[in-house]
Amino acid sequence: MKVGFIGLGRMGGHMASNVIKKGFETYVSDLVPDLVAQKVEEGAIGCANNQEVAAKMDIGFTMLPNGAIVEAVMLGANGVLAACKPGTIIVDMSSVAPGTTQKMAKAAEKYGVKYMDAPVSGGTIGAKNGTLTIMCGADEETFEKARPVLEAIGKRIMHIGGVGMGDAMKIVNNMLLGANMASLAEALVLGAKLGLDNKTMYDVISTSSGNSYVVDAKMKKFIMPDKFEPGFAMDVQYKDLTLAQEAARGVKMPIPMSATCTAVYEQARAAGYGMEDMSAVIKLWEKLMGVEIRGELE
Ligand code: NAD
Repeated sequence: MKVGFIGLGRMGGHMASNVIKKGFETYVSDLVPDLVAQKVEEGAIGCANNQEVAAKMDIGFTMLPNGAIVEAVMLGANGVLAACKPGTIIVDMSSVAPGTTQKMAKAAEKYGVKYMDAPVSGGTIGAKNGTLTIMCGADEETFEKARPVLEAIGKRIMHIGGVGMGDAMKIVNNMLLGANMASLAEALVLGAKLGLDNKTMYDVISTSSGNSYVVDAKMKKFIMPDKFEPGFAMDVQYKDLTLAQEAARGVKMPIPMSATCTAVYEQARAAGYGMEDMSAVIKLWEKLMGVEIRGELE
């Protein structure tokens, strides 16, 4: 089975490496030639553009920044869909709106191409280790065909439902990630102002009812060591929260917690932290209150 991989960034780069390592014949492209060259060194076949990948592949994976870019890659000038052989499967692993995927799936039908969503959770470390959770939206047959390659990329491969349902699941998950991080930022800075030391806060929260994924994944790995290179860029987290807002508007549901949380990230982006890891949201409160949550945890 010839595999295509388009989008070799922070996540896609690692994911493509795992596909190559499993021995799949892998054709790759990205706007950044250096990223393509890196994968060629690992054994991939580098292509000059996305259409060249599309013409070769039996199954293709995309890991792109957002829905507008996915649409442009699929349907724009030199689009992927027009270059695919009939019978090709496309698996979009980017985090996008369910409506984007459903629109692409409809467009794909005209080319005899099957299109499914498979967004992921687990961050760059999960991508590197091949331990991502993958949330798939597809018919049973397409899902089963994609599974062998998905198993090279992730540990929990979940068939959530029909096309777009993986995206819906991802939106719900990332509402919680965004809110948990924004709340942790607020809580830690308040704790510091009340005189608590950072290690005590970590030791107690990480073993108590206030614990969540972000305590280890963000406080320990990004905030304390003062390493805000993403990881999961704040602009991308913000994009996911706007997907949640759109989805909620679509079903006329108020989501006030997420609305507040979106506004907090908006403020952090305005302060210039958009390209940093999403955990840099803490810098808003640190600057305001004149404290910093940094140092050793050991
Ligand atoms: P990224 O910006 O690091 O990577 C995106 C890659 O796509 C870049 O290398 C870029 O050059 C390439 N690209 C953009 N336009 C292209 C085009 N027209 N043709 C070919 N390549 C193109 O982003 P990322 O952090 O890897 O995130 C990718 C997706 O994964 C996003 O949808 C994000 O929401 C999702 N995601 C990210 C994380 C994370 O921790 N970073 C976790 C889960 C899901």
